[in-house]
Amino acid sequence: MVVETSQRGSQRLHYLEDEIIRLQEAHLYQELFVLEGKQQVDCVIEGKRVLNFSSNNYLGLTTHPALIKAAHEGIDSHGVGTASVRTIIGTMDIHEELERQLAEFKHTESTLVLQSGFMANTAVITSILEDGDVIISDALNHASIIDACRMMKQIPTKVFAHKDMNQLEDLLKATQSANRRLIVTDGVFSMDGDIAPLPEIVALAEAYNAIVMVDDAHASGVLGKNGRGTVNHFGLDGRVDVQVGTLSKAIGAMGGYVAGPEVLRKILINKARPFLFSTSHPPSVVLTCMAALKVLQNEPALIERLWENTQYFKAGMQRIGYDANSETPIVPVIVGSSEKAKLLSQRLFEEGIYGRAIVFPTVARDKARIRIIVTAAHTKTHLDQAVATFEKLGKELAII
Ligand SMILES: *Cc1c(COP(=O)(O)O)cnc(C)c1O
Repeated sequence: MVVETSQRGSQRLHYLEDEIIRLQEAHLYQELFVLEGKQQVDCVIEGKRVLNFSSNNYLGLTTHPALIKAAHEGIDSHGVGTASVRTIIGTMDIHEELERQLAEFKHTESTLVLQSGFMANTAVITSILEDGDVIISDALNHASIIDACRMMKQIPTKVFAHKDMNQLEDLLKATQSANRRLIVTDGVFSMDGDIAPLPEIVALAEAYNAIVMVDDAHASGVLGKNGRGTVNHFGLDGRVDVQVGTLSKAIGAMGGYVAGPEVLRKILINKARPFLFSTSHPPSVVLTCMAALKVLQNEPALIERLWENTQYFKAGMQRIGYDANSETPIVPVIVGSSEKAKLLSQRLFEEGIYGRAIVFPTVARDKARIRIIVTAAHTKTHLDQAVATFEKLGKELAII
């Protein structure tokens, strides 16, 4: 009986097979690679020991002893879950304490933590705009921003070419009659590793009286003093209205947050649907994030090593003929077609280097790449090994 039921179900979804075949033919089909054990540099994936160059574990915090200890303590003091959304009985003392610490860290009046960075972007964009407003968005913004804009069907989204300040200004001029303008940009662009021209964006926003929102997912824990993000990196504290950060990347755990004035926090608590209708963070995660903030303050050597390693790796790649230019530890090794990117990724894996191919729709069809992320946890030996492997395979596949 059970078998019969499940077969009937699967037959009705059979049409999806055609889409899978289309994806496979276009070299866009993805399989999951399973990590056996911890998220760390020296790891085992699909039974093979490899050096990991694909995680967002910028500072190696996923396995930091202080964070692991904090997670255990969170379970001991507050249990494993909250069993409620924040607005009913899912706000514990530790949630508010984390938000106070994040606000202090970000030099903002307040913060609000959401389940993820994705949800934080959704929360802001779907909560602060009204009919008559316009969103102005960088072409390479993260999918979570794009999706949030799409959810706001009644609000037009105007897209400017990536980091094109002339186009941004043109859009600001063309939308003078709008009620309000929201300029939204990634702080660090996740697939290219470049930094948004925030000083120019802020100057234009001030000239044209637009709201500025920066999504600092890849800058949290990476850029600015103690990893405060791009706003602090550019000395723009107090001049950006909304900052989104993630707790899921360099911070090593899970979550997102919105940093800004108290009025923003209040409106999100009342209006943001991911906040209102999805359960709050388990205590282990909350305490882990607080421990991470402490590490950012007390161990600045981690961020120094991250940047030292980044320079070292890029210099090595440039020496052997790769165009490894980016402004952050994200190093896009662009190879062109998704087929070639997947082949290079496969060969890297065979040679003991884990660097995932990033293909359409995450990046443009002809800009498929291996995205390398250098971390503080890599040693010089790891970095040398990666460069040597890229040299061998770059020649083998006629990339360099
Ligand atoms: C990763 C990422 C997010 C999503 O953050 P999560 O906490 O993983 O949901 C949002 N914006 C950008 C730019 C990102 O790179």
